[in-house]
Amino acid sequence: MSELQTTDPAIFGVLQREVERQNDGFELIASENFVSRSVMEATGSALTNKYAEGLPGKRYYGGCQFADEAEDLARDRAKELFSCDWVNVQPHSGASANAAVYLTLMKPGDTFLGLDLSHGGHLTHGSPVNFSGILYKAEYYGVEESGPNAGRIDMDRVRDKALAVQPKMISIGASAYPRDFDYGAFRSIADEVGAFLWMDMAHTAGLIAAGLLNSPMDHAHVVTTTTHKTLRGPRGGMILIGSDSENTVGKVAPKSGRVKMWSELFDSAVFPGMQGGPLMHVIAAKAVSFLEALSPDFKSYQHAVLENAKAMADSFVEKGYDIVSGGTDNHLILVDLRNKGLTGKDAEIALGKAEITVNKNMVPFDTQSPFVTSGIRLGSPAMTTRGLGPGEFNVIATLIDKVLMNPNNEDIISQVRSEVKAICRKFPLYDFVTA
Ligand SMILES: *Cc1c(COP(=O)(O)O)cnc(C)c1O
Repeated sequence: MSELQTTDPAIFGVLQREVERQNDGFELIASENFVSRSVMEATGSALTNKYAEGLPGKRYYGGCQFADEAEDLARDRAKELFSCDWVNVQPHSGASANAAVYLTLMKPGDTFLGLDLSHGGHLTHGSPVNFSGILYKAEYYGVEESGPNAGRIDMDRVRDKALAVQPKMISIGASAYPRDFDYGAFRSIADEVGAFLWMDMAHTAGLIAAGLLNSPMDHAHVVTTTTHKTLRGPRGGMILIGSDSENTVGKVAPKSGRVKMWSELFDSAVFPGMQGGPLMHVIAAKAVSFLEALSPDFKSYQHAVLENAKAMADSFVEKGYDIVSGGTDNHLILVDLRNKGLTGKDAEIALGKAEITVNKNMVPFDTQSPFVTSGIRLGSPAMTTRGLGPGEFNVIATLIDKVLMNPNNEDIISQVRSEVKAICRKFPLYDFVTA
């Protein structure tokens, strides 16, 4: 029996019910995944007790020798995984990593150019309610409304916009964009207008690590990511620089007159700029997940993620659904429900009753509010981790369609819920509450 079960039955009960929820339902939120027991073990370890402000070998606290080892392993493995020269594994989250990039490259009031939020961009790319939109002047590029490139970013338009607004920084990366990016084209535009190029690969890091999507490493000046989405590590963030050539000059330090490299500036932006002590238990868990990601199994997993997302996209197209951009290059699809007379909000609620977890999502040129939306976003990473293949993803699409066509029919929803449970039982997930 776990100690927690006796000391705090209330929280133990919550954890138990959450494990049951994860075990018994379809998890289709594109930003979620299921970590290994090893990753959970490291996350639940004694390193949670340790203060380790600073970097390996240069800490502000004693007793950091093992924290240093953990962080060195995390950094070395991340560098190998992404073929890059420098990494900081301390950001507590993707948003923290992004904040450190703004702090390093921009001054309050500076202009940057990012992907429109309603076209798949992230809050930290200039939303008016986020620090990025509050402190800096956000300009946006978007996807095409119609024509052969409908739902895709047109690089000529990005260039026109960049020439018009002369941004200090251009950001790439998205939370709901089903296509790959042309990093070379972005870099040419950035060079033409003298802007920094920043790629936020939070969603696609796992696919990029496996070599299945274009890599931004040799094009962007700096790359950020989360570690918990397709990368399948603990919740957290990270900052990377591709090659040495991008890491020459930063700026002259006022006191010493020494020229600092970008890597040093990003390190200082994370700590002491943005954060206090790093979460060493999470950094150890990051190291564990990077080791997993370096294995051949991880590559097969990412192949399956793509195959399953494509199978799901094809099934929805066959059933007459409108998929943004007509399909997917990555792990997610965006279903535009306008031709089905449903809102994203209603779809999310109806599917939730059948234990199918999705999130409502704005579609490009949406006329509904962000609380209602006209679409749902569906991702394959989590259910692929459980071992489901293209056949099961076709069934997932069929079951979703059944619910969406009968959102108020409790009998049909309860029948779908039983089918969801039966499939989940065939692909067991966790047989423990605490690792
Ligand atoms: C998820 C995401 C983030 C934020 O990550 P958090 O860990 O939730 O802060 C940042 N950028 C993009 C593109 C994302 O999809």
